Amino acid sequence: MVSEAHLPEYVTRLDSRETFTFACHSGVRCFTDCCRMLELALTPYDVLRLRKATGLTSRELLEHYIITEQDPGEPFPRFYLTMVDDGRASCVFVSPEGCTVYPHRPSACRAYPLGRAAVRTGNGTILEHFVIMKETHCRGFLEATQQTPLQYSIDQELTVYNTFNDAVVQILQHDAIRQGLIPARKDIELFTLALYDLDTFRQMLMEDKVELTILSQPEKNRLQEDEELLLFAIELLKRQLFGIF
Ligand code: SF4
Ligand code: SF4
Repeated sequence: MVSEAHLPEYVTRLDSRETFTFACHSGVRCFTDCCRMLELALTPYDVLRLRKATGLTSRELLEHYIITEQDPGEPFPRFYLTMVDDGRASCVFVSPEGCTVYPHRPSACRAYPLGRAAVRTGNGTILEHFVIMKETHCRGFLEATQQTPLQYSIDQELTVYNTFNDAVVQILQHDAIRQGLIPARKDIELFTLALYDLDTFRQMLMEDKVELTILSQPEKNRLQEDEELLLFAIELLKRQLFGIF
């Protein structure tokens, strides 16, 4: 866990039962100001939902709307939503009326100004920690609504996102990764394919082109469901990377 001393001045820790005062709506003077100059990291479930919002395939999203980066020594690549070159580095999905993908907006957008860190313990359970980011431009803190992190998460429909994101944390924070395992190139390619390019992954599974598994027809039918496919991808990756299923 990050100690209080290492947090920026505008970030404070929040207990899950503590209340904070905040509301965001189209009437605030700063409406959409926070949709610019972002390093907006995307989870696999975020991409699954953006596919639904845009009607684009996962491959099209990866090619046109997502920047992939992997720093030397990092076990896995990171995936960021593109900002456009409009002088304000605006999110590719922001408009004067607000977020054009609002019902399917990414986890980080739903959570803001709350930050949630999911930490995998030794026995695989997930502990959550919250911070509140009180940035000076955000007028939402002048509103009267009070809520706890849990209430806010429910209001923002974050709970379902957390379920899928925490399943991926089982990979990102696995003991082997914490102990310094750097996956082989082919496993990193599988990570990108299975988690972030679901349409291509599904097509390859249907055509029996994923060497690691051959599926029965009922299993193939089940994996037509996006959420089932993502959970299957997570389990397949765990087996490939760590030998568990
Ligand atoms: S996805 Fe929507 S809410 Fe998130 S930064 Fe872009 S416009 Fe804003
Ligand atoms: S800066 Fe704060 S209040 Fe303004 S739109 Fe963003 S979240 Fe809402």
